[in-house]
Amino acid sequence: MAVSKFHSVESIAEAYRAGQRAFGESYVKELLGKREVLPKDIEWHFIGHLQTNKARQIVPFISLIESVDSERLAAEIQKCAFKESRVVDILLELHVAQEATKSGFAPDDCRAFLAYFTKEKYPNVRVRGLMAMASNTDDEGQIATEFRRAADFFDFAKTRFFAQDQLFDIRSWGMSDDYPIALAQRSTLVRIGTKIFGERRY
Ligand SMILES: *Cc1c(COP(=O)(O)O)cnc(C)c1O
Repeated sequence: MAVSKFHSVESIAEAYRAGQRAFGESYVKELLGKREVLPKDIEWHFIGHLQTNKARQIVPFISLIESVDSERLAAEIQKCAFKESRVVDILLELHVAQEATKSGFAPDDCRAFLAYFTKEKYPNVRVRGLMAMASNTDDEGQIATEFRRAADFFDFAKTRFFAQDQLFDIRSWGMSDDYPIALAQRSTLVRIGTKIFGERRY
């Protein structure tokens, strides 16, 4: 998936012409503005921290919300998706990094959420898998350990909660600087910004 946050509509259009269809954005306002002027068959992924009160703006069209990090946000997505009569695919963001700054469910909280999550309570939300970010460090061993933690949790969740569910199948880890390590730790979806578009100018 091509992470296009802070990159221009022209850059996205160029990648689109080359065949890319999945793009990721971190800010609702930026996403809405870009979507307005770009081809309608783009699959938009949301990868930033999503404020509960903004969920309704993206639920009507989003392909995958990768950064669901609370029960409250999941409940709001369910409410909005029900109103839109659609089923929204989400990933649960798992906190595996050492840094306290990274967001996401702590593994225990994620397990508690999954124990509580049922199709009856969430008929319009489909949990497709997990998203994780490693610490921002040069220590490749540490990065591998963190991604392995995510992969192990995925196996646990798959066995415990989604054994019958073919669609729990996405492991989103790896960015420009650490995607080879992520792929070695069984990532199925890498989120690449800089290596596709160049440096972001904030
Ligand atoms: C910005 C961002 C990326 C892409 O980072 P690059 O290092 O530019 O590839 C991936 N995932 C998330 C969640 C991001 O916010």
